[in-house]
Amino acid sequence: MKPFPRAEISGDALKANLQRLRQLAPQSKVMAVVKANGYGHGLLNVAHCLASADGFGLARLEEALELRAGGVTAKLLLLEGFFRPSDVATLVEHDIDTVVHHESQLEMLEAARLAKPVTVWMKIDTGMHRLGFNLDQFEAVYQRLQACPNVAKPINLMTHFACADEPNNPATAEQARRFEQMTADLPGDRTLANSAATLYWQATQADWIRPGIALYGVSPVVGDLGRNHGLEPAMELVSQLIAVRDHKAGDPVGYGSYWQAKQDTKLGVVAIGYGDGYPRNAPEGTPVWVNGRLVPVVGRVSMDMLTVDLGLDATDKVGDTAVLWGKELPVEEVAEHIGTIAYELVTKLTPRVAVCLE
Ligand code: PLP
Repeated sequence: MKPFPRAEISGDALKANLQRLRQLAPQSKVMAVVKANGYGHGLLNVAHCLASADGFGLARLEEALELRAGGVTAKLLLLEGFFRPSDVATLVEHDIDTVVHHESQLEMLEAARLAKPVTVWMKIDTGMHRLGFNLDQFEAVYQRLQACPNVAKPINLMTHFACADEPNNPATAEQARRFEQMTADLPGDRTLANSAATLYWQATQADWIRPGIALYGVSPVVGDLGRNHGLEPAMELVSQLIAVRDHKAGDPVGYGSYWQAKQDTKLGVVAIGYGDGYPRNAPEGTPVWVNGRLVPVVGRVSMDMLTVDLGLDATDKVGDTAVLWGKELPVEEVAEHIGTIAYELVTKLTPRVAVCLE
C-alpha cells in the first residue's frame, strides 16, 4: 500500500520542464535551482532526474555536500555563498562554486591557504538590495577578487531581480541595464534570470538561466499557471478520506466550531493537516480534488486532518483519494485561495509527507 499523505513526483514532468526551458532560452545554460530539498520535491530525486542540467543552484553548503555525497558530479553553485573560514577549503575539496556577495567573504578568500582556487560568482546589487555589492563598490571589489590567487579567473558575474514576477514592472529592465553597464566588457559567465525573468524577460537570459519554480512546472507569476508556458506540474500532493460522515444542517465541524452546514450534507475527513505542511489558514472554500470534482474545505484545518464538504448525494468512500494539488488542481490556484505563493506550499511540506518519485 502506498503511504499517505504523499507527494508523488513525476520524473517525466521534471525532465520535460527542463527541455521546455531549454527551448525558451536556447542560448543559455541551465543552472537548475534545487535548494530547499528541490523545492520540496526531494533534492537527490530532482538532481538525478535533471542530470542533464548544466549545473545546480543551492542555497547552503550542506545541500551541495548532500548532492556530492549522492554522486552528483555536475557544477554546483552556492547562491548564498559561504560563512565560515573553514568553508573555503570545503568548497575546493568538493569542487563547489560560490557566490561572493559580502566583504567578509572576500576576507576569508584572501586569508585562506588552498590547494586550488575557488570558482566565484560576484553578486552585484542592481536594485534588489538584499545581497550583493552595490555599484559604487563594484570596481574595488572586482580588483580585489582579480588580485586574489585563491579566486579562479575569470570571475563570473551575477545579479538577482526583485520584481521579475511582475511582467509589467519596469524595475527588471532597469536592473538588467545596470548589470549590463557594469559587466559588458568583462570576461566570465553572466547570469541574471530566475524563472520569471526566463519566461517574461527573455533579453535577460544571458550565459546561464537560474530557474527554480518553473522546473517544477509552476508559474512564478500570481494569476498565471505553469501550463500556460508548456510546463507540467511535477508534484501531486495526495492523501485519502479516513471518514465520510452524514452531517446535519446547522451542525458545526472542527476546532472552534465556526463553520456550520447550511443544509444536510456529507463531510469527508482527509488525512492531511498543518503537521504535514498543509496551511492551517486555508480558508473555507479552498478546493480539494476528490473523485473527479473539486470540493471545498470547511471548518478549521487541524494538525492531521481537514474536512471537505462532499455534498448530500456523495458516494465517496473511506480510502478514496483526495488530491490537495497536482495536475487537476494547480498548486498556483490553491496558493491563491490561501493567500500565499506556490513556492511556500511546495517547500513547507514536513518530513511526515512521503516524497515518492514516480
Ligand atoms: N537565483 C537565486 C539567487 C535565487 O535565490 C532563486 C530562488 O529564490 C532562484 C534563482 C530561483 O528562483 P525561481 O524559483 O523564482 O526561479
